Amino acid sequence: MIVIGGGLAGLAAGVALADSGWRVRLFEQRPFLGGRATSYVLPDGEHVDNCQHVTLGCCTNLEDFYRRVGSSAKIKFFDRLLFLDPQGRRGEMQAGALPAPFHFTGSFATFAPLTLLDKLSIARAMLNIIQHAGNPPDVHKEDGISMLEWLRRRGQTEGAINRFWRVVLVSALDEELDRTDARFGLDVFWKAFLSSTTGYRMGVPAVPLSNLYDGCKAEIEGRGGEVVLRSPVRGLKLESGQLVGVRFDDNREESADAYIFAIPHTALAELLPESLKQSDPSLAHLDKIKTSPITGVHFWFDRVVMDEPFLTLLDTTTQWIFNKTTLYAGFDTGSSGAPGSAQNTQYLQLVISASYDLLQKSRQEIIDLCLAEVRHALPKGRDAQLLKATVIKEAAATFSPEPGVDRWRPQQSTLIPGLFLSGDWTQTGWPATMEGAVRGGYLAAEAVLRASGTPRVFLQPDLAPDGFIRMWLGNSRPPRF
Ligand SMILES: Cc1cc2nc3c(=O)[nH]c(=O)nc-3n(C[C@H](O)[C@H](O)[C@H](O)COP(=O)(O)OP(=O)(O)OC[C@H]3O[C@@H](n4cnc5c(N)ncnc54)[C@H](O)[C@@H]3O)c2cc1C
Repeated sequence: MIVIGGGLAGLAAGVALADSGWRVRLFEQRPFLGGRATSYVLPDGEHVDNCQHVTLGCCTNLEDFYRRVGSSAKIKFFDRLLFLDPQGRRGEMQAGALPAPFHFTGSFATFAPLTLLDKLSIARAMLNIIQHAGNPPDVHKEDGISMLEWLRRRGQTEGAINRFWRVVLVSALDEELDRTDARFGLDVFWKAFLSSTTGYRMGVPAVPLSNLYDGCKAEIEGRGGEVVLRSPVRGLKLESGQLVGVRFDDNREESADAYIFAIPHTALAELLPESLKQSDPSLAHLDKIKTSPITGVHFWFDRVVMDEPFLTLLDTTTQWIFNKTTLYAGFDTGSSGAPGSAQNTQYLQLVISASYDLLQKSRQEIIDLCLAEVRHALPKGRDAQLLKATVIKEAAATFSPEPGVDRWRPQQSTLIPGLFLSGDWTQTGWPATMEGAVRGGYLAAEAVLRASGTPRVFLQPDLAPDGFIRMWLGNSRPPRF
């Protein structure tokens, strides 16, 4: 078995198949594992994540994957999300004692950045989502409807759209509301915020991201396989239309019983010969899957400027601030130059999803813009000296979850014997997330095992609904409001 690509999708497939007794050879073009969800060391010795990555309690497959590779303890979970607007008004989301779906009633009632009218309109839309168990009928069109359209149909106020729906969904889905399929948006609220009291809990890595994959190599190589870094696949070898091998630099070739391509859809579209695209129509539309950008900004201050582990800003370009010094505390990052290791300094990481407006800006312009926002939001930052800063723009961070995009996402099995696909962009039911990538990996492993006549299930069930939702769904009739 050959797996091409050492991101989460390739690693999840490789680890699952190794566990099923297959000899897995995984080839990754870069010198490290993790793909987009990784970290690296800057020339000055600092470990930085490609961008801050977070998971949620409802990401059951990612949780399973971390457990398999021994990384569960490296994720810290938080049950309080804090929001701050430019006027200094705070809001928080924290589950209270009431059962789902009423567990946020207390937080919501005291959420200062929203007006009473905003809250009433949000409550109405939430009841509509609950009424249809996360699946309102008007989202089921093949070409989809946008989240913005869905919200407008539910009479949402501008405040509710900009200070609530947009804030949660642009971060979760990396796209603006008018370019997001409502199906994905509603799924976020149903799975993370409504159907259970724990789905929203935010998991943040307490180590640089690449440390999360230490166990993968061991899992694969411990079962007779190998993980080969710095090995870009340059082409496919076909004989009589059949896939018989993959080609590397210097015309080196490797062959196997089956191949899982776990590389981004943009890279696969370039690698696949035209003849294979014609043999399987699902491979012919990869270029219709668009991408959207994320920008990460890293600031190192000469003193502590932030006390919370993370914070969401409203009405600013900066969307999230993560306090990396606090998040890494207690873990040995394995480097003397680890972020925040110097006493009393502080390392913050800012995230801006769907950052189209920043793509044309220079790094210095982005630093100036974000620094002003950070200093406004965090009074202790006003006198602090910025020791250094870096900006990482990912122009094609994720696939864009635009309305109807699922039409173009192929299954993990193809019509070409021995050719399987994996990746967050394959048909996983999820948007482009780490959870989606692991699902893609597990589904590809299941497809390989099915084809070889030894079926096995890796995909984990969704988080079980609790509270009143469980009772309602148990009665198998959506509640009526
Ligand atoms: C800036 C940013 C922030 C994000 N934040 C979050 C977040 O907070 N939470 C979340 O859940 N998700 C987040 N995501 C999305 C998440 O990172 C991805 O959905 C997930 O990592 C995709 O995994 P993958 O394995 O499908 O693809 P990738 O991670 O892209 O892996 C593909 C791998 O294939 C390798 N490859 C490509 N071509 C070849 C070749 N020819 N030969 C060999 N190897 C090759 C690549 O080097 C790469 O390692 C974020 C993404 C970005 C970019």
